Amino acid sequence: MSLPDFPVEGGCQCGAVRYRLMHSPLSVYNCHCKDCQRYSGAGWSMSMVVADHSFERISGHTVHYDRLADSGNFIRMNFCAHCRNWIWNDPPAPGIKIVRAGTLDDLDWAAPVGNIWTDSKASWVEMDVDLVNFTKGAADRTPLYKAWARSHQD
Ligand SMILES: [Zn+2]
Ligand SMILES: [Zn+2]
Repeated sequence: MSLPDFPVEGGCQCGAVRYRLMHSPLSVYNCHCKDCQRYSGAGWSMSMVVADHSFERISGHTVHYDRLADSGNFIRMNFCAHCRNWIWNDPPAPGIKIVRAGTLDDLDWAAPVGNIWTDSKASWVEMDVDLVNFTKGAADRTPLYKAWARSHQD
């Protein structure tokens, strides 16, 4: 699968918040945790891990909610101040943001390489066993980074 020419852009529903991704993400995967189900209103959400330095907010104001995770850490969740579209999380791990991949203008290149929190996935969701799957959270995201790199080498 080929990557687009970076930078690429994305944004919220109302168009106020726009961002630019300067380089390829480190990985894209699905999260089936209950929080993502609630926030997305869907069976899972798509997490796109990006290095802080490759994410630029171009416009718009954001508001945040600090969610207490099962780990005991607070995860800052950032939303458009106007339309409340969920755009990215600041996880406890330094140097990265977890952007909601569905906010990309073009999602075609961002096929997920894995799944996390499959223990809480809906029973009707079928797992691709060839992907990098975790029953709980991925404390170490290295396997997801490697799978992303592997699937984009030419
Ligand atoms: Zn908005
Ligand atoms: Zn989740």
